[in-house]
Amino acid sequence: MPRIAYVNGRYLPHADAAVHIEDRGYQFADGVYEVCEVARGYIVDMNRHLGRLDRSLRELRMEWPMHRASFEVVVREVVRRNRVANGLVYIQVTRGVAGRDFLFPVGVLPSMVVTSKKVDPSFQATRAERGIKVITVPENRWDRVDIKTVGLLPNVLAKEAAKAAGAQEAWFVDPDGTVKEGGSSNAWIVTADGVLVTRPAEHGILRGITRTTIFDVAAGLGLRIEERGFTVDEARTAREAFISSATTIAMPVVEIDGVVVANGHPGSTVLSLRAAFFDVAEKTLP
Ligand code: PLP
Repeated sequence: MPRIAYVNGRYLPHADAAVHIEDRGYQFADGVYEVCEVARGYIVDMNRHLGRLDRSLRELRMEWPMHRASFEVVVREVVRRNRVANGLVYIQVTRGVAGRDFLFPVGVLPSMVVTSKKVDPSFQATRAERGIKVITVPENRWDRVDIKTVGLLPNVLAKEAAKAAGAQEAWFVDPDGTVKEGGSSNAWIVTADGVLVTRPAEHGILRGITRTTIFDVAAGLGLRIEERGFTVDEARTAREAFISSATTIAMPVVEIDGVVVANGHPGSTVLSLRAAFFDVAEKTLP
């Protein structure tokens, strides 16, 4: 069965799906996106993801390409047509196709692309059993990383550096040593007292949807969360460290810049968050 992609009003074989060379996403990274996890036959936290998409669009003065209700139908339809039970759905909206000019085009419809793919759930499950390694890199992104734009070159370079170092994620760090977030995830630690710590999301990081849902999961488990900055040194000596994102959920971090965290094994707190996550997250049928 060929994969199907949605592109500007049409469902097309993935291999033939394309946008115009003058799409502003391609030329200016003038676009925004969302990634939702699909797990056990459900789209996870779709409403929260589309809520953040709405905010990203508003911050960049872009229009929805269609009514939100119709948009949701397309997202669910792409997952359904690709028969994805476990994997992800990728959603991208750009300011549309127009002759190359820095200024916003007038009267141009936004472009919309939705793709979905299967991912074997055992891949992340196996990773979670062992935990991942992270490296730290200097923060070099613009200061509107709270908007989920497709302009991800610093993230690409940081994650490539992580791979070269045998790690799976890179944490952006401010000059004062404070951890911001990962190249495609939020960063967390657990203190000796069992308190979850993550950086406030008002600015300087993306307010992860998984991060938000973990607040609900933690409340259900009776865990306390402190929203404050933490340094790389504090993370290295923490009881646990982990990352969160739609595709990894809560993923243990067992090494930071080659320094082993705690006993080098995934901690019980992150594993309990991971285990309880799907019971708490919102589930939408494709
Ligand atoms: N921070 C960045 C920079 C990201 O790219 C992502 C996800 O891609 C996240 C955090 C986590 O966000 P979410 O939990 O919504 O996937």
